[in-house]
Amino acid sequence: MAVLKPLLLALLLVTAACGGLDLAVPEPGELSPTAINLQDTQQMELLGSPEPANIVWQRSVAGFTVLGQTAAPDPTELAIMETALSHLPDALPNRVRYIVRAVDATALVSGNPFAAAQGPDIYVFETSFSRKLSPAFSLRRALIHEIVHVEQFAELDPYHVTNLLTGSESQVLLTKSLIVRDSTEETGWSEAGGVWTLRGSASNEYGATGPTEDMAEAVAKVFGGEADQLPAGHLKAVESWLGTSVSRLARGAPWVPQDAEEVELQSDLHDQETVARLAGANQYDAISFSLSPTSPDIAVLADLVTSGLRRNGLTGSLNRADDPAIARYAGEFLGPDGTTIWTEIRDFRDAPGFTGGPDVPVLIYIIIWR
Ligand SMILES: [Zn+2]
Repeated sequence: MAVLKPLLLALLLVTAACGGLDLAVPEPGELSPTAINLQDTQQMELLGSPEPANIVWQRSVAGFTVLGQTAAPDPTELAIMETALSHLPDALPNRVRYIVRAVDATALVSGNPFAAAQGPDIYVFETSFSRKLSPAFSLRRALIHEIVHVEQFAELDPYHVTNLLTGSESQVLLTKSLIVRDSTEETGWSEAGGVWTLRGSASNEYGATGPTEDMAEAVAKVFGGEADQLPAGHLKAVESWLGTSVSRLARGAPWVPQDAEEVELQSDLHDQETVARLAGANQYDAISFSLSPTSPDIAVLADLVTSGLRRNGLTGSLNRADDPAIARYAGEFLGPDGTTIWTEIRDFRDAPGFTGGPDVPVLIYIIIWR
């Protein structure tokens, strides 16, 4: 989920100067700052985001322009994108120019990212669709993270934009985004000599790599129902950026306990018959969390999960299942937008029918998209 730096920028400006343009570059302090304009193709190119290259196909998906570098759009991928894009939170601003289904992540970023933002564009790769049991939910989460980067770019300090356009700075720095600067006031990041350090905790391990990632992860966690895992300052930063309370932002989200860790299961663990009946022809995603081995008794856990889901605006309840193999609670919750979350807690600390299990309670949410 790295953000790309337009290394070509300096080169482009040199080329322009060689073309005979007599550019008198004023001191940055003398300039009236230039507003960034995501619709200005030429300006975007100068800021390191040219129109995406090698595009083979184009589709409109849930109101987004999706460009493809693959030979043809894959119907399964399009269906996952449609679900993820049509369930983005209303409260999240969104100025994405293109979503690009790119063929090669390594041409853009190092490692094997889920998705990447470059200026106003978001690149998705084969890995973006790789979660077997939760393809739409995990793509939605990745897109929320990248949309935050697009907003950081769209809110770059106009003086930084001016310096980039005039060549007195050569690298787009999202840390020079006004919304990132605002968030660091709450989250405890500070800069000295170009190095950012954090006083206190980050939103998670990836967030600890810098203030732009920390902000993107905090927002993704709030919308993913993981607000209880965030430090208070991060919650305040998200609320003040989006202008509304975390409890409103988390409406409809599953509730993720503070000590929960997402686990990627190899196969479905839930009550498949019931889920098939509830889902009908709708797509669904399964997300699972392991809880602490010192979690309270499953009946107490069931109460905690129920009240967490109700705080997020879902209605429903959990009931103890009559299952001699494992202590289990299950129930259906209905979200404000009609999305159903089938919820199960399976306590492997009390599972005479299982051997070699994880020995912790597992919380499973099946999100049935409407
Ligand atoms: Zn990122």
